[in-house]
Amino acid sequence: MDLTVRAAELDAADPLARLRAEFDLPPGTVYLDGNSLGAPPRRVADQMGRVVREQWGGRLIRSWSEGWWEAPQRVGERIAPLIGAVPGQVVVADSTSVNIFKALVAAVRLAPGRREILVDAATFPTDGYIASSVAELTGTVLRAVDVDELPTALGERTAVALLNHVDYRTGRLHDMAAVTELVHAAGARVVWDLCHSVGVLPIALDALGVDLAVGCTYKFLNGGPGAPAFLYVRRDLQETFDQPLSGWGGHREPFAMAPDYVPAEGVERARCGTPDILSLLALESALEVWDGVALADVRAKGLSLTGFFIECVDELLPPGTVEVLTPRDERRGHQVSLRHEAAEAVMTELIKREVIGDFRAPNVLRFGFAPLYVTYADALHAARVLADIVTTA
Ligand SMILES: *Cc1c(COP(=O)(O)O)cnc(C)c1O
Repeated sequence: MDLTVRAAELDAADPLARLRAEFDLPPGTVYLDGNSLGAPPRRVADQMGRVVREQWGGRLIRSWSEGWWEAPQRVGERIAPLIGAVPGQVVVADSTSVNIFKALVAAVRLAPGRREILVDAATFPTDGYIASSVAELTGTVLRAVDVDELPTALGERTAVALLNHVDYRTGRLHDMAAVTELVHAAGARVVWDLCHSVGVLPIALDALGVDLAVGCTYKFLNGGPGAPAFLYVRRDLQETFDQPLSGWGGHREPFAMAPDYVPAEGVERARCGTPDILSLLALESALEVWDGVALADVRAKGLSLTGFFIECVDELLPPGTVEVLTPRDERRGHQVSLRHEAAEAVMTELIKREVIGDFRAPNVLRFGFAPLYVTYADALHAARVLADIVTTA
């Protein structure tokens, strides 16, 4: 059947179609980079105006005791259902990089005698950089391993494995259940980086017994540029979760101004300093868009959208012009990565023509499909513009 007709039919049958109107996107732009910076939900601009005028302006410093101080936990509770966590296990604070540091040091401290940290060899760079510092600071050894080689790499030396749920470059999705089980069978802890999977598919941290997890909120969660990240600490680990950034924000009685650090009892101990309230409250407002949205629908549409885009690429591009790096089966997130020798120039041209994806060195074109606001018509249009560029360039 004609791709145009297919796209129209798929859009007409899309149970999430109404959500696009919640987002502020420039007309005529096809935005396929929500895996780097999610688009702004319309409500955020109004809410930020109110926060600045009424809370910061109207209530001034009183706002700290009128909801600001607890915002890291309160916003954490909004993320919890998206990652399969019962209340009391998530805080929103600091960046993903900083939370990886807290989580890894805490994990090493939970495993005295175990002297090795394993990191996903294909990891997003910051995870590897931070893991390297943690190894140096804790006197452990860092080893990069392919996720497929974990069964042989894990052992009695392993303290913790830091893994990306979805590979940022290829879009490959790892089997969280199987891998978590493997790591636990070796007596080690797992830290999952959910940056490219939160808001993409149902995640079941509690059910799978995951130890610790971190993730960004400015990608598929649309929290805004630099919105603070989240950190999940499984309930039964909280009492022994000994994170190294002992700022007053994680103190049991922050306003007692005591000379010594005593960590808070719950997940609040994962906090550090004063929260960035404006970003946190922008995120809180952005998360309201998820109310009533079933993650199963998000997942189904994401798979279908990425599958449809791959099909359009197969059909519209001459054979051999690009290589699809993203798995064609269901082991993928909501991005499609294509290898092309002149990927950087191709992406520059795509962006000039208002099809916004991104380029990852050395030769990867990356297209993110955020099911809340991307349509099948968008996917088809992007493939058509791409076909035009690679055949006429
Ligand atoms: C985007 C991303 C990060 C970003 O970390 P920041 O501290 O927010 O810069 C980290 N890890 C992964 C896997 C990512 O995709």
